[in-house]
Amino acid sequence: MATVELKNVNKVYDGGVHAVKHANITIQDKEFVVLVGPSGCGKTTTLRMVAGLEDISSGELYIDGKLVNDVPPKDRDIAMVFQNYALYPHMTVFDNMAFGLKIRKYDKEEIQKRVDEAAEILEIKELLERRPKQLSGGQRQRVAVGRAIVRHPKVFLFDEPLSNLDAKLRVQMRAEISSLHTRLQATMIYVTHDQVEAMTMGDKIVVMKDGVIQQIGDPLTLYNKPVNRFVAGFMGSPPMNFMNVEVKEEGGKIVIDEGTFKLNVEGKNAEAIKPYVGKSMVFGYRAEDLVYSDKAVDGKSMAVTVGVIEPLGAETHVYGSTEKHQMIARVDPHITFNVGDTAHFKPDMEKVIFFDLETDDAVN
Ligand code: ATP
Repeated sequence: MATVELKNVNKVYDGGVHAVKHANITIQDKEFVVLVGPSGCGKTTTLRMVAGLEDISSGELYIDGKLVNDVPPKDRDIAMVFQNYALYPHMTVFDNMAFGLKIRKYDKEEIQKRVDEAAEILEIKELLERRPKQLSGGQRQRVAVGRAIVRHPKVFLFDEPLSNLDAKLRVQMRAEISSLHTRLQATMIYVTHDQVEAMTMGDKIVVMKDGVIQQIGDPLTLYNKPVNRFVAGFMGSPPMNFMNVEVKEEGGKIVIDEGTFKLNVEGKNAEAIKPYVGKSMVFGYRAEDLVYSDKAVDGKSMAVTVGVIEPLGAETHVYGSTEKHQMIARVDPHITFNVGDTAHFKPDMEKVIFFDLETDDAVN
């Protein structure tokens, strides 16, 4: 299999859209890397440059250590699975899977062997004589993956391959693609706008926004140590809570003042925000890092008015608000809330993140 490396890669489309800006990504052999970000952030463009379907405006792309900027797609030893599957409607499943091998002039026996092997892995052996319109969405998706597998490529590229499937099937196919990765021991690059897909599938995740890579890391690093407010808000569901607070020094201690409550900040976090005393910051905390308290605890809890209650069975989501900010708490389903109640929540101050108000960068 193969490594893929982007060095200072840029893409400027005709007409001037700078779709990918100074991208540096190193993908190790056998790694599963997910490119994730909102619509228009440049993830598909990045993938298409790796595939050779888009020219690189500047920078270098290496596959297995070889510079491939000017190597045509067919010679890159890469297979891509598209969002719309791109199956030929008039061909059987077998022929769809065999097509790429036929045009590369593989002999009949080898084609038969490879298609059978892929059909076995994907459990679609009984579908080989059908045509795409006789298949369900999930089966079509498997055929599209099968067409990539038979090529035995160095690198697999996936462009939002699950976005046409219903929610339940997506979860199933997510697991299937992950186990395919383990089984084939292949290098895979996967594009999605869905952060849950990114978190559950990626060994490594590349978060993009406006053509710029925001952070590269394993799922838990991105979740627990986001470098900026965008990554913090994008990764995780429900999203991280943000509140504007003022940093103060009171009696030699660092506190943050939201206007309706104050929280004590200690240890390393106090050190990190000390330079901001007298200024405003953004205070971020995850919905699960809150402990419910039946009464106010000075310097430790915030009072919120309960708005919407969503019982999900294993947990309950409580949407509340202080006088100034909205927030969401994930709480034990055994605690009962009523709309309009005042509830007290204690954030786990070890896990909170502070962001510079101007740069949006995390400071702790
Ligand atoms: P989506 O999730 O919507 O597919 P994306 O993150 O994959 O979005 P890209 O498709 O890479 O984003 O597009 C990045 C930027 O480049 C967008 O602003 C888009 O409008 C622009 N763009 C994409 N293709 C072209 C093109 N062929 N010509 C000009 N601009 C383009």
